[in-house]
Amino acid sequence: MTDSREKQVPPTSKACGENGPWREALADPPELKLPLLWQGEAGERYQDLPRDCPPGALFTNDASTKEGGSSEPCRPEGIVIRFRPCRTALNVSAICDYTLNCYGGCAHGCVYCYARFIQRFYPRTEPWGQFVDVKLGVLEALRRQLRRLRPGRVFMSSACDGWQPVEAVYRLSRKSAELLLAYGFSISILTKSQLILQDLDSFADRPVTVGISLSTLDEELAHLWEPRAAPPAKRLEVLRAARACGLKTTLMIAPILPALSDNRQELRRMMEVGLEAGAEEICVDAFNRRPKVWESVCRLLEAHFPGLVGWYRRLLFDETTRARYLTQLRQRVVQVAQSLGVRRSVDICF
Ligand code: SF4
Repeated sequence: MTDSREKQVPPTSKACGENGPWREALADPPELKLPLLWQGEAGERYQDLPRDCPPGALFTNDASTKEGGSSEPCRPEGIVIRFRPCRTALNVSAICDYTLNCYGGCAHGCVYCYARFIQRFYPRTEPWGQFVDVKLGVLEALRRQLRRLRPGRVFMSSACDGWQPVEAVYRLSRKSAELLLAYGFSISILTKSQLILQDLDSFADRPVTVGISLSTLDEELAHLWEPRAAPPAKRLEVLRAARACGLKTTLMIAPILPALSDNRQELRRMMEVGLEAGAEEICVDAFNRRPKVWESVCRLLEAHFPGLVGWYRRLLFDETTRARYLTQLRQRVVQVAQSLGVRRSVDICF
């Protein structure tokens, strides 16, 4: 039984039109090319699941998995999706008033991602980026919380990308966003996915901020560090489309990759293209030390930039080197922002 306030959701705004420039881009989002095969059992008692969702405990995009085959979840070369129960949807946060993550894990698999800390609480045999937990009951939990919480700002999502590929199947982020708005909450979205494009027109004229993040504009470099996220140019299309819908927009330049995207030209270019795409605000963050991240970073550097391993190690773990680097980087960011005349729109987070 849903709360009556859900019926007060304003009708979908057509302010963005049915044929916006993003429709074409959406036709073949790069994240959705992998085939999905279903297997397993249970899970149907949850209202979250779409009607056409097979009552499967897991599915994988490993094409070698046969439908109806083993329910053994681990498929090393694929992305394993499991269901897990969720009793609390909104968490109080220092970033915003609340955070909401409808999924555990993230198929984008960014090498620097600090959200891998969740593996401490939900150990998985697959490496980061190759598993996703779909949170069963997240909408019911959210409804329960919304009935008693004071409205505030919700960050979607702090420990996953809410619009990663599984969102195309479950739509939990979209449905959660609709619930939040119906209860008078506002939303900040940060994504590296074009899947958000199909939801933008329903957010038009509502308190939703859409942000994308960029660590570099170099597509090959981005593919190395963010292997299954949309390429930078596609993310910028999201910003453009969000602006076309009249939404507030943010560009997150983060993390700046030491010795790879931290030079003046690249910083300037990232700010320029972000502003051209309609970013109203730019947040910049450095490459940070995070638990469990060094191992994957080191592996990438050894494979592709062996000469940078020592530099990254000093930068992350030697306090003097780190302090000096961050001071210089901060000065560089300020100078670039000033040269573009946007210093007041640039927030430096380090
Ligand atoms: S998109 Fe965000 S949450 Fe997902 S892997 Fe990358 S950094 Fe982590």
